[in-house]
Amino acid sequence: MTIQSTILKGQNEALQNEFSTPKYKPYFLKNYKGFPQIDRLTEEQIFDIEVVARVLPFRTNNYVINELIDWNNIPNDPVFILNFPQKGMLKPQHYEKMAKLVKNGADDFEINLAANQIRAELDPHPAGQMSENRPSLDGEILKGVQHKYRETMLFFPSQGQSCHAFCTFCFRWPQFTGNKEHKFAMSEIEPVIRYIQQNPGITDILFTGGDPLFMKTKLLAGYINALLDADIPNLRSIRIGSKALAYWPYRFLTDDDADDLLALFEKVVSSGRHLSLMAHFNHLVELETDAVKMAISRIRETGTQIRTQSPVMKHINDDPNVWAAMWQRQVELGAVPYYMFIARDTGAQHYFSVSLEKAWNIFRAAYQQVSGLARTVRGPVMSCHPGKVQVLGVDQVLNQKVYVLRALQNRNPDNVMRPFFAKYDAEAIWYDDLVPAFGKEKFFVEDF
Ligand SMILES: *Cc1c(COP(=O)(O)O)cnc(C)c1O
Ligand code: SF4
Repeated sequence: MTIQSTILKGQNEALQNEFSTPKYKPYFLKNYKGFPQIDRLTEEQIFDIEVVARVLPFRTNNYVINELIDWNNIPNDPVFILNFPQKGMLKPQHYEKMAKLVKNGADDFEINLAANQIRAELDPHPAGQMSENRPSLDGEILKGVQHKYRETMLFFPSQGQSCHAFCTFCFRWPQFTGNKEHKFAMSEIEPVIRYIQQNPGITDILFTGGDPLFMKTKLLAGYINALLDADIPNLRSIRIGSKALAYWPYRFLTDDDADDLLALFEKVVSSGRHLSLMAHFNHLVELETDAVKMAISRIRETGTQIRTQSPVMKHINDDPNVWAAMWQRQVELGAVPYYMFIARDTGAQHYFSVSLEKAWNIFRAAYQQVSGLARTVRGPVMSCHPGKVQVLGVDQVLNQKVYVLRALQNRNPDNVMRPFFAKYDAEAIWYDDLVPAFGKEKFFVEDF
C-alpha cells in the first residue's frame, strides 16, 4: 500500500464514525417503510409508485432519502422525481392497465406479463444499441462490447449491470432484469484485450453499465489489471462511467473495499495512463453533501480526473440556473463539465423530454453565466443513430427557419464538426423528428 493510501485509510476511519449508516435496500417501497420520510407520502402517492415501479426500474437508498431529497418539497423535488417512479411516467393507458392489476391483487406472473408488454412498447434498445456497433473477433461477436467511434470502445462487464439507485429516466433498464453472473471472468476480458490490440485506432476503453462501480473492487480490479498487464501501447485512457458519486459516495469512503478502489485508481494513473471517472450528476444537490465533497477529493488525490455529464430533463433540471450552478460547483470541486445530453427516445421520454429548441435555450442561458473554465461542456447533445449530434441553435438561413446541428462523434470521422441543417420544428424532441432543410434527401451524417 502506498503512503497516499495509508493517509486515505486514516481518513476513512474517521469517516466510518461520521457515516455509519445502514446499507440501502432495493426494489419495493415496503422495503423503505422504516424511513419516516416515506411514511409522509400519501396512500395515493404510494400506490402510484408501486404501480409504475412494476414497469420502470425503482431502487433508492438511505443516502438518497436522507441527504438528497428535500421532503418538504414533495412531490416537486427533483431528486424525488429522479428516483421515485411518478404516475405521469407511464402513458395513461399503460398506467390504467397496471393499476387495475395491482388493485385486483393480480399475481406476479400476470403483472410481469403485462409489464413486459408495456416495456416492449417503450423501445428498450434505442440507437441500435443491441443490434449495431457490435464488433467481432475471429468471426465471433464480442460479448459485452460496443465499438462505434474509432477511438473509444465501450465495455459492459457483466457484473456491472446494476446501480446504487435507479434513475427513473434510465434507458438501460432492460439490463436490470434477469440473472447475472457475479464472478470475474477472465474469458470476458481476454477477447477485449485482443480486439484492442488488433485495432490500434482505439485509445480509450470506457467501462459502462449499469454502473461499473456497483461491482466489488475485486471484480473491477480483475478487468483493469488484465488490461494493464497486457500493456497495450495504443490504450491510453481508461474511463469509468458511474453515478456512484451522486448516489453512493460511500463507495469511495466507507465501503469495505473503498480504499482498494482508490488504490486501483492510483495504479492506473501510475501506469502512465489517463483515468477518467465519467460522473453522472443530474442536479446541484448531488454536489452539496459532505460525503460527495470528501469522495471527490479522495478520488482527485489518486490523480484521477473527474468529468461530468447529465441529460437535461423536465421536472428535474430544465432550468439554466441549475446547470450554471452545477457547472460552477463542479469546477470548484475539481471536476470538468463534459456533456449535456438530450433525454433519449426510450422509457418515459414523454414525461422528461424538452424540445430541442428548449434544450438549446437552457444550454446557452447556462453557458452564458459561467466563465471559460466551465465552458468545457458541450451540448445539448443527442446520442443517436448517426452519432453524437449537437444542437448548435435555431436560425434563419435563406428565408428558412432551421436547426443548425453538427456531429461531435460519427462512425465516419470525416463527418465530424461539419454543420448541417434541419427544418425548424417547434415540437421536435429527438433526431428522428428532424427533416433535412433546403430540399436535401438525407443528412450526410447518416453516410458512414
Ligand atoms: C458517447 C459515446 C462514446 C464516448 O464518446 P466521447 O465523445 O469520446 O466521450 C463512445 N461510444 C459510444 C457508443 C457513445 O455513445
Ligand atoms: S445510474 Fe445510469 S445506468 Fe444507473 S439507473 Fe441511473 S441512468 Fe441508469
